Amino acid sequence: MMTNPKNDFHKRVEEALKNETLQIALDNNASRRRQARTTSFASLADDLENYRDRAQKIREEVIDNLDAYLDSFVKRATQNGMIIHSAKTSEEATQIVIKIAQKNHAELIVKAKSMVSEEIHLNHSLEKLGLRVVESDLGEYIVQLRGEPPSHIITPAVHLRRQDVAALFNREFGMPLTDDIRIMNDVARRELRDVFLNADVGISGVNFAVVETGTLCILTNEGNGRMTTTVPRIHIALLGIERLLPTLSDLALFLELLPRHATGQKITSYVNLLQAPRLPGDQDGPQERHVILVDNRRNDIATSKMKEMLACIRCGACLNACPVFQEIGGHAYNSPYPGPIGSILSPQLFGLAEYGHLAKASTLCGACMDACPVKIDFPSLLLETRHQYVQTVPQPWVMNFIMRGFAFVAKRPSLYSLALRSAGAAASLLPDEGKWIKSLPAPLNRWTNSRHFPQPARQPFRTLWKTQPQSPESNNMTRTENPAQNKPLSETREKKIDNISELTDQFANELTALGGEFIFCNTTNIQANLLDLLKQSTAQILVWDDLHIQLPFDIASWLKAESYTTLSAHLLLRDPARKEGISWISKADTGITGAYAAIANTGTVILPSGEKHSQLASLLPSHHIVILPIERIFPDFQTWIASGGSELIKANQCVSLVSGPSRTADIEMTLTIGVHGPAKVTVLGLDQNSNQVSTHKHK
Ligand code: SF4
Repeated sequence: MMTNPKNDFHKRVEEALKNETLQIALDNNASRRRQARTTSFASLADDLENYRDRAQKIREEVIDNLDAYLDSFVKRATQNGMIIHSAKTSEEATQIVIKIAQKNHAELIVKAKSMVSEEIHLNHSLEKLGLRVVESDLGEYIVQLRGEPPSHIITPAVHLRRQDVAALFNREFGMPLTDDIRIMNDVARRELRDVFLNADVGISGVNFAVVETGTLCILTNEGNGRMTTTVPRIHIALLGIERLLPTLSDLALFLELLPRHATGQKITSYVNLLQAPRLPGDQDGPQERHVILVDNRRNDIATSKMKEMLACIRCGACLNACPVFQEIGGHAYNSPYPGPIGSILSPQLFGLAEYGHLAKASTLCGACMDACPVKIDFPSLLLETRHQYVQTVPQPWVMNFIMRGFAFVAKRPSLYSLALRSAGAAASLLPDEGKWIKSLPAPLNRWTNSRHFPQPARQPFRTLWKTQPQSPESNNMTRTENPAQNKPLSETREKKIDNISELTDQFANELTALGGEFIFCNTTNIQANLLDLLKQSTAQILVWDDLHIQLPFDIASWLKAESYTTLSAHLLLRDPARKEGISWISKADTGITGAYAAIANTGTVILPSGEKHSQLASLLPSHHIVILPIERIFPDFQTWIASGGSELIKANQCVSLVSGPSRTADIEMTLTIGVHGPAKVTVLGLDQNSNQVSTHKHK
């Protein structure tokens, strides 16, 4: 359970302000996130405001019709073979997880990031029963080992320096002390790889659930989300009931917005679209896929004045924009949800009396609203929370006296005007106009203890306004009439590309920017290119049984002739054969797959699960080689969905969108490659209509 929700708030704030490491980490986080976001917005095909308007409308529509959308989602997901559970409270949700774990004799549980699991304190309940629960997101893993909660919803270990992580890994795993983040990353990869391969149950959150198809969408950069939902026999997804999107086309919009707002990326390395449990004949995937629909007061919120906050997609942008969060960090809030969203959500979820004070930790500057992809009106919701808080919790008599006095004066214009003039006259007695008051007497010193108070203006604004010359243009021009503000950004953006050669170039450039490698091939030189890539490989290769492409040679026989051993990824369901199978497969250092399609504007390849398509081939080995016919490159996700992509999603247990190597920036926001999935991704772009040798090669 959470402790000291309210009484220690000021103490925690003071500690945070004095913590130099935290202050440096928070400054770095804010400035890097701001920069990355601005760069990533420039690549949107249209004005960001248009995206935000559409996103806001979609989320409003879902919240206003939550019951109907939820019913439809449950119907579709059940038809797909998922097992759906409903939990009214956090206790019910926890009990459902426990029952599933016990029924399957689980001992080891691996978890991908899930804010709902933090909200219901799931780890604590499972550990009390003797189950071992291991967080697999690198940041979450670090804070779990330290025995503390995450301090940011996107970067859980943002408050730590690399030296803190090195000392932790030294203590836990005997890693020699180092400043090299890659070494720390390798240690975590090794430790967690064992957990992924041996876990009985995988638990994940859900970023979006698509109603029209019953699809769960999970975004991760490290690959831990794919591991958690693919390797263990049982997958449990915790879904807050509000995280629905009506259609796959709506999902396309949110896939453009969420990564840009969260981490400043065009797309996360892995977007997993989960449709079903393992289907007959599938090589891998969980035997059972459970979805727990967690209400935990959301239905009540949906019919209250606070319903707008249910539109939140947990991108963390409001935290990074907030001047208060930037100073005090996440732990000061003592809630799973810190920052501006936490200040309005925590009181509704965990109690107004205990968390309502968080709404006062805001300057009401509106930076959070400007940063929010779904345009949540934070200032109004913060004020409403403050109002509800003072109705619930008796306030100090001084505060009541001051606020009643202010209300009395503010409701009477002549009195208000007199008060302003009196304050101005008093200010004119102070030595320096426009300066700050550095200390006030008690009880007003609560303000000046931590910041200065502005001197009242010597002349009230209304008096100043009357003396200013009025410009007719500035008076009359509305926002809609201002040509500079309304110029669509799309006019300046690149036109949509639709020919194969340009799409191939765009795909290659995007993949290369992500740290991947693109090699243009034709039917004559593909074999030589492949052999060149395999020089680095030891003898064991995990390869799709069907690459979904007609090659001029049989790949299995050719690899055998070249002395490579190809492995089948078929996972037997029961131990000990399953454990042996997994350990055998995990020795492969190269995976070769085909690709059903690719997306040019993000450098993404699209890989379905299936009878002859192991998901593990693109996940476990350190090098993933993809053979992609270039005519299957689509301009963007939306076009692919409309051109048959939605049918591919509906027909398979899982479709993975893979964009470059596995990556993390969880330690000091330093980009590190290959945390759980492949460190190297090479795409052989095959022009099946050409046998001309080409020098078209991106590295
Ligand atoms: S409130 Fe908006 S900005 Fe904050 S986490 Fe939610 S979606 Fe992101």
